[in-house]
Formats: sequence, structure tokens, C-alpha cells
Amino acid sequence: MASSFHEFDLIQWIREQCPSAKANLIGIGDDTAILQPPLNSELLFATDMLMEGTHFTFPPATPERAGRKALAVNISDLAAMAGQPHSALISLALPKSRGPEFAKAIMQGIIDLAKEFSIQLIGGDTNSWDGPLVINVAIIGIAPASKSIKRSGAIPGDWIFVTGELGGSLTGHHLNFTPLVSEALILNQAVAIHSMVDLSDGLASDLQHILRESNVGALLDATSIPISSRVSENESKQTRLQHALSDGEDFELLFTVSPEDGKQLLSQNPLPTKITQIGEITSRQTAFIQHPDGSQTSLEDSGWKHEL
Ligand SMILES: [Mg+2]
Repeated sequence: MASSFHEFDLIQWIREQCPSAKANLIGIGDDTAILQPPLNSELLFATDMLMEGTHFTFPPATPERAGRKALAVNISDLAAMAGQPHSALISLALPKSRGPEFAKAIMQGIIDLAKEFSIQLIGGDTNSWDGPLVINVAIIGIAPASKSIKRSGAIPGDWIFVTGELGGSLTGHHLNFTPLVSEALILNQAVAIHSMVDLSDGLASDLQHILRESNVGALLDATSIPISSRVSENESKQTRLQHALSDGEDFELLFTVSPEDGKQLLSQNPLPTKITQIGEITSRQTAFIQHPDGSQTSLEDSGWKHEL
């Protein structure tokens, strides 16, 4: 189908902007890209679609920031598996009302972050339509064989950790966060990570992924949850905690390790970022949160729902 965005020109422009091909890869120019996986490695695949009006709006987002975020959320999923980003395919549904400069600006945001993480853009598609902007990224990552971290490895007694601070991401963090790829790789070298996820929907919601896949429960300590300074100090303690639990789009890492490894991490944090123990994995298959007065409430029954 003919495109008002001169599809070929855009692809040519993308090729000119992108770093030269990786040795084991044939990228843009053929009907498909070809990747020869390195020996003793496994390939990781993820895709995530971002839609104008749902995942960002103009403003406050710029086309560059929207593009950057579309790639960043995909890189964050690879970080959650302790994978190394390798290559990506980008598909754009572009609003007809906007010109080629808009498309280039989106791609510039994607290309700049791709270069930062040595990701090669190996294909994709562009179309224009009467709808809003839609950006889909499919990402490919690589990890040493059997070294990827899954959600299903948590066991009762594990300590639960989180990187960084949580809450208030929609004030800006969600448009400019840096995915924690090297942090995940460093952790994976330092200790035996049993399970891990990245926090996209919010701690209360994303923790459930680990619990469900591992058939375990959790007890969180309300006073340990690291609340971001992005959450207003004027709110009550309870409201600030709710922000940290359910705002989402933090893109921090949530992971579980044995108590022995947990103690090691607390005595010597291998990351430049802060890490906090926020609770323990239990065998009772439900998530509870313990409050300062000693009472425990169910995380699901607390009305803390994802509201993005
Ligand atoms: Mg994820």
C-alpha cells in the first residue's frame, strides 16, 4: 500500500543512522533479518505495543520521548530475564495528519537508545492511518544457555528485593527511565537470583506474577517499601504507600534470593543503585502486607489496583 510517509525514504534514513551490522546478523534490506545465535546461548523474545492516548500523550511526551519509551519498556523486559539486548524490529502506525519529520523524530528517540544499548534495528514496518500514533517494538535478547531468570523460581523463605524507589512515575520517570540491563547482569553474577520481574504495572500487581508462576505467597513489610521522592510529601503515609505499590511504570527490578544471598546483598550491594529488602516469600499462596502496628492485610483486598 502506498504511504504518504515515503516508507522507503524513512527506511533508508534509518539505515543511515544505524550502527554497522553485528557479525552474526543480516539486518534491513532483505525480506527478513537473519540471526545466527552464538554457541551456548539462548535467544529471548518480547514485544510491547505503545499507543498514543494510553501509554503517552503529546504533550508532555515529545515524539523522541515516545519512541524512546517504546524501546525502553521492551529492553526492561529483557533486563527482567537477565538477558542482553541484541536487536529489535520497529513498527509504526503513523497519524496521517503528521508529516515525515514526526516519524523521523520518533525513530530518533528509538535509535539513540538503541545505540546506548548496542541494539541493532533489523526491520519493521511503517503505515499511516487516520488513528493516533502506535509504536510496536519486537526485541531480541541473548543470554548464556540456561542463565535467564524466570518468574517461576521463587521458594518459601526467599527474601524479596526491589531496586531503586517506587511510585510517582507518571510525573516524568516513565518517559526517561533507563532500563536496568547491566544491573540485572551484575546481580545475576553476584548471587543466585531465584525469580525476577520488572515493575511495569506496579509492585502489588507485578509481584503476583512471581507468586502465581512459583505457587508461593509473600509477606511484605509496609515500612520497608522504598517510596520515591516523586510521590508528594504532602500525602498521608498510607496514600504514599499506595502510590509506591500501585502507580506502575517504575521499571525497577523485583527479585527473590535465598536468605544467605540476601544477607550478602545487604552487606555489600554490587549495584550503583540502591536495593531494598521488602519482604519474604511464604508458602501460603497469598500476598500480605504487614503494617507498623503488626496487623496484616491482603495485598489483593486492599483496593490497590493498577490505575493507568
Ligand atoms: Mg515485564
